[in-house]
Amino acid sequence: MVHGQGGVKFQNWAKTYGSSPELYFQPTSVEEIREILDMARQRDKRVKVVGGGHSPSDIACTDDFMIQMGKMNRVLKVDKEKQQVTVEGGIFLSDLNVELSKHGLALANLGAVSEVAAAGVIGTGTHNTGIKHGILPTQVVALTLLTASGEILECSESVNADIFQAARLHLGCLGVVLTVTFQCVPQFHLHEVAFPSTLTEVLDHLDDHLQRSQYFRFLWFPHSENVSVIYQDPTNKPPSSSASWWWDYAVGYYLLEFLLWISTFVPSLVCWINRFFFWLLFSSRVENIAISYKIFNYECRFKQHVQDWAIPIEKTKEALLELKAALENNPKMVAHYPVEVRFARGDEIWLSPCFQRDSCYMNIIMYRPYGKNVPRLNYWLTYEGIMKKHGGRPHWAKAHSCTRKDFEKMYPAFPKFCSVREKLDPTGMFLNTYLEKVFY
Ligand SMILES: Cc1cc2nc3c(=O)[nH]c(=O)nc-3n(C[C@H](O)[C@H](O)[C@H](O)COP(=O)(O)OP(=O)(O)OC[C@H]3O[C@@H](n4cnc5c(N)ncnc54)[C@H](O)[C@@H]3O)c2cc1C
Repeated sequence: MVHGQGGVKFQNWAKTYGSSPELYFQPTSVEEIREILDMARQRDKRVKVVGGGHSPSDIACTDDFMIQMGKMNRVLKVDKEKQQVTVEGGIFLSDLNVELSKHGLALANLGAVSEVAAAGVIGTGTHNTGIKHGILPTQVVALTLLTASGEILECSESVNADIFQAARLHLGCLGVVLTVTFQCVPQFHLHEVAFPSTLTEVLDHLDDHLQRSQYFRFLWFPHSENVSVIYQDPTNKPPSSSASWWWDYAVGYYLLEFLLWISTFVPSLVCWINRFFFWLLFSSRVENIAISYKIFNYECRFKQHVQDWAIPIEKTKEALLELKAALENNPKMVAHYPVEVRFARGDEIWLSPCFQRDSCYMNIIMYRPYGKNVPRLNYWLTYEGIMKKHGGRPHWAKAHSCTRKDFEKMYPAFPKFCSVREKLDPTGMFLNTYLEKVFY
């Protein structure tokens, strides 16, 4: 019989959200998950499945039953001919990357970290950058879902097609994702070049940058014109890196945390800290070549609050300039660096922030130096206002203030998703506080 542990405290990676599940399970088989769902039904409990616990919001929290999928993490099948891999939902991408590379394969795109689960990243619509590349759920060609009733559903473009369109970005509310099949590409190396520029230059030549590099993104340093442009492109050259740059980077970040802590007492220092760090770490050209996942992933050194909305790509310039002007007009409103600007191809996934439009993601950040919270309400509201005005849709993993009314306006296919959810989970077994705001 499956055993649930009491007294476990769940916290997300940034320690910004947490909960105390009544029972915490780490199942090793589908039968055990079925048992947990049976128990939940009998005791009228809700169930939350969790992967890497990296979401910077309460999307993975519950005070009822929590199922952590870390022990269901096998690679089930590698189809070399189709270049597809089928994995259990709990596998971390860090393990999958290594496993794929043994077969000469790779995922075409990844987010900044890989200590996240396959079912978790697709559940919230994790993205990286590259206008020819969709968000991570676009790499999914099939998946298996265990529903609230205990039924197993195979889903793909041709089988249970409607459920597939919903489940590719499932929010954790359709059932337990048991397996995911990803379309892969042949393994590749990336050549990364980072060089300094200005906001005016980048915004005036956005199309050029998007054409010039397959995985183009840029970092803007608020309260200044400073920008770091980052190009990443496939290469046949051997791996190489600038060790001294990494050393500077590591030492720089210890200093940054200390200076940001000081700035919690003197907020006006933030604009100088942003400039200083641009000069210290981002004002010269840096190059690096490595296997793709080592370039896609980068170290997010310390805890932070984030927001990350996707707006139509043609709104990029207007929205960023409005954010810049808002900061200039409100000297008391401070913004930590960087504002990370990334791009993604439009898709047809019902709850994808890129649904039917090429998009620009604009990620804002407020660090928590030594775990201390820094006031951010004004900055957050100003940013959300600008994003909403330009037709933005918030990243599902990251805290936002939207409710059902907003999502109905943002997502043409929202009613279709709701009807699939209500059919698969009529009693709301897989809901939690975050999801109630989305659906009620
Ligand atoms: C340091 C850091 C860097 C990040 N970088 C990026 C980035 O570059 N791009 C980006 O888009 N996002 C980024 N994120 C956000 C991150 O990618 C998402 O939060 C992602 O969902 C995390 O995966 P996870 O496995 O931790 O999911 P969790 O937080 O554990 O869960 C997310 C959702 O998936 C559901 N879920 C998980 N497993 C299952 C399952 N088997 N069945 C059903 N539901 C399930 C949960 O219930 C929950 O609703 C970052 C987060 C951090 C902390």
